[in-house]
Amino acid sequence: MADDIQPQPGIMDIALYEGGVSSLAGVSNVLKLSSNENPAGPSDAAKEAFSRAVHQLHRYPSADHTSLRAAIGEVWNVDPDRVICGVGSDEILHFMCQCYVGVGDEVIHTEHGFAIYRIATLAAGGTPVEVPERERTTDVDAILAACTPRTKLVFIANPNNPTGTMIGQSEIARLAEGIPPQAILVLDGAYAEYVEGYDAGLALIEERDNVMMTRTFSKIYGLGGLRIGWGYGPRAIIDVMNRIRGPFNMSSAALATAEAAVRDTDYTEKCRLENARLREWMATALAELGVPSDTSTANFVLARFADTAEAQACDQALRDVGIIVRQVAGYKLPHCLRITVGDESACRRVVHTIAQFKGAKA
Ligand code: PMP
Repeated sequence: MADDIQPQPGIMDIALYEGGVSSLAGVSNVLKLSSNENPAGPSDAAKEAFSRAVHQLHRYPSADHTSLRAAIGEVWNVDPDRVICGVGSDEILHFMCQCYVGVGDEVIHTEHGFAIYRIATLAAGGTPVEVPERERTTDVDAILAACTPRTKLVFIANPNNPTGTMIGQSEIARLAEGIPPQAILVLDGAYAEYVEGYDAGLALIEERDNVMMTRTFSKIYGLGGLRIGWGYGPRAIIDVMNRIRGPFNMSSAALATAEAAVRDTDYTEKCRLENARLREWMATALAELGVPSDTSTANFVLARFADTAEAQACDQALRDVGIIVRQVAGYKLPHCLRITVGDESACRRVVHTIAQFKGAKA
């Protein structure tokens, strides 16, 4: 009897998501630098909005997210009618696959691309197609060469996670122009707010009908715990996704907090500058210790070790003193550790521990 009950094809090919550890047995004062969270947390304005939302918890939330979409529209200079909000940008990525991918369809993601692209593709019955990167950076030619008449989506994170690297707008435009007519390019901008003068590809989205963008409140806005993301794209694609979106997918607390957060641009600018300062400091200090990284444009650095054994030993040395960073073996980078840029004392603690591990002085 039990054998008669089977999940949809593809689902059992999904490995359970390993979000990494968040605590260490027997260690207090744990420093978690494994999920690219903002060490400063949300702005005061966002926290106040969250507190006020408590008084309305008996009410269902807005089903059309009008107020949050209007705020996003004002701050990012986009048409609020073409914004869709989701339970983290993860939900938007899933919507894209549910709406546009079926059995036999292919979805392209890059070699070291974010894990959810593969999960969402398999969950929709599609086939993930992994394309090599060039020196841990998105390779547009390799992606174009991998496209087929079955390609439905192409996922690009820019900046990329876990590499931190970025490609320029001309490369993205080349991609949008070169993919087949039945395919949509999804620009995942989870770390966009960390890039000075970020060009989110908005001009491209306005010009074309095959480009979509996703964003999150989990990173610079410090709201990972509330699960809020958004997408922006052509009216037709947003309309399709809204048909499968649960009407009350976003909680009232999430909507109110995100609205206050997105309007507090002074706070995000302060966080961006502080992140850039500490990221450069940490990357330089690690490089001097013989642990190089590619130029990161996000809120983490991908530290490269001599080999997998050294990366694992360093990970253990960090854990021994209560510091959790991210092993990225699952992203086919077993000789690397992804380290979130924490606050100043966190960055100093990391550098100090790695210096001791390397037998040097910091
Ligand atoms: N895209 C990328 C590249 C990410 O790194 C993340 C979070 N780790 C997400 C999307 C999803 O973010 P969320 O669902 O928290 O909005």
